[in-house]
Amino acid sequence: MIERPRGTNDFIPPESILREKIIKLISEYLKIFGYKLIETPIFEKSELFKRSVGDTSDIVLKEMYEFKDKKGRDLVLRPELTASVVRAVIQNRLYNNNHLKFYYIGPIFRYERPQLGRFRQATQFGIEYLGNPSFLADFEIIFLTQNLYRYIFNNFNIKNIEFKIHINSIGCNNCRPNYKQKLYEYFVNYEKDLCQDCQKRLNSNVLRILDCKNMVCRNISLNAPKSVDYLCLECKNHFENLLNLLKMNNINFVIDNYLVRGLDYYNRTVFEVKTILDNNTIDLAGGGRYDYLANFIDNNYNIAGCGFAGGLERLTLIINNYNPQKSFNMIKILFSLISEQKGLGIFKYLLSTIENINTNANLLKDNYSFYFSIDNSLKSALKLANNMDLDYIIFIGEQEIEKNIFQIKNLKTGKQKEFSLNEINLLVKNINDFLDKLNR
Ligand SMILES: [Zn+2]
Ligand SMILES: [Zn+2]
Repeated sequence: MIERPRGTNDFIPPESILREKIIKLISEYLKIFGYKLIETPIFEKSELFKRSVGDTSDIVLKEMYEFKDKKGRDLVLRPELTASVVRAVIQNRLYNNNHLKFYYIGPIFRYERPQLGRFRQATQFGIEYLGNPSFLADFEIIFLTQNLYRYIFNNFNIKNIEFKIHINSIGCNNCRPNYKQKLYEYFVNYEKDLCQDCQKRLNSNVLRILDCKNMVCRNISLNAPKSVDYLCLECKNHFENLLNLLKMNNINFVIDNYLVRGLDYYNRTVFEVKTILDNNTIDLAGGGRYDYLANFIDNNYNIAGCGFAGGLERLTLIINNYNPQKSFNMIKILFSLISEQKGLGIFKYLLSTIENINTNANLLKDNYSFYFSIDNSLKSALKLANNMDLDYIIFIGEQEIEKNIFQIKNLKTGKQKEFSLNEINLLVKNINDFLDKLNR
């Protein structure tokens, strides 16, 4: 047996159907707000991430899948997408000093210890808003992140979700060097107590000590200087304007002084969106502003940017745990019709109705799938339905035609009901109503 590599997944039904549905919801929602799909290669030059994410970040130091191709070029399976999107914007000359809005969904690769909801190949989705340095863009991103998740959860009947935004400002190239110096002066007093990684970070990337998970480092960090106390006037105004706008719109946030996010390209706003379900705090997504990223990639460019990214696997895990109805399962319906003139006529009619399904948004939304069989007995139709694990059977046999009726049977509950054959022209369009009448 050759098994799949550690930390990867096969997505099989019903999981694959759930994923498909979420992806559809994501693109549906983001399009309304003017975001357009962008797709970039799964592998990029290593240099792209070393320069942008930063060569002292955990991602670049420990987690990248790097390889050389047959010509000896240094390539990497992309560990994230923001750098790729900005690279694509520059390379395709998309930037014309206007606002650009993109969304993406695709795999990322990180060599890390696999754990619940975390894999070596993971699916990330997110948005990037380029060309707008104003706090209004930061607000739009945070607002959209929260509401995109709300939209998806509502679609799976997970209601009354509370979100909490953790937010911080890590300043700009004018004010951050001073803050880093203050951090260094603070942490150097505890050099011997810090974990090995943080001892290295002290000289290479002192900011990253703040989000170390080690308990000793965390305790030392509690009294460390806060970035918000060292912001220059411009950064301070940007942050305060953003917070005011969040307040005005009743968005629940806390200032998290030790939120820095582990990527070098962030400046000013960094944030994480969390939710509380059954007393568990769950991280949903994170993001921030990255006004220097374009310049890291090509120093002819300066493009302001802001975005977020979230994980699809984590989201499906939550929906699987909390969706009360498991409504992502397709409702599978078998039409079973007798092979005589009238039965075949109805068969042709139903097929043409279903062919026109594109105009029937309700049907698509509710995830029905239809199957057909031509059977002369209910018995043989039931056998087929059982083998295929179907939910309903709609049966029109000899007796039914005689009595001018058709039968609908719920195969999971055994309930069965007769309807007038005169109503057959309403059946596909109003399938919800028919099933309600049967199940009630
Ligand atoms: Zn600043
Ligand atoms: Zn540490």
